[in-house]
Amino acid sequence: MGVRKIDVSMCTGCAICVEYCPMDVLKMDGERQKAFIKYLRDCQSCFLCERVCPENAITCIPVYERRIPLPW
Ligand code: SF4
Ligand code: SF4
Repeated sequence: MGVRKIDVSMCTGCAICVEYCPMDVLKMDGERQKAFIKYLRDCQSCFLCERVCPENAITCIPVYERRIPLPW
């Protein structure tokens, strides 16, 4: 699963999460100026979006069955 939800009531539309996501999972809804999860299947559960969101609007959950390649 990885990224689970974006709380739109907390999202200010800063787009930081969209910029940081390495898999291009998140997009901005131009009309509402809120981030949303567009390509959930591509999420690699890296938790980066959750960490960088200044409003703590993003919730991720770990995916234990998926291996995450480590750089060492
Ligand atoms: S980083 Fe957080 S506040 Fe900014 S667009 Fe993404 S979800 Fe919204
Ligand atoms: S957990 Fe990582 S791959 Fe998944 S949406 Fe967030 S930044 Fe993108």
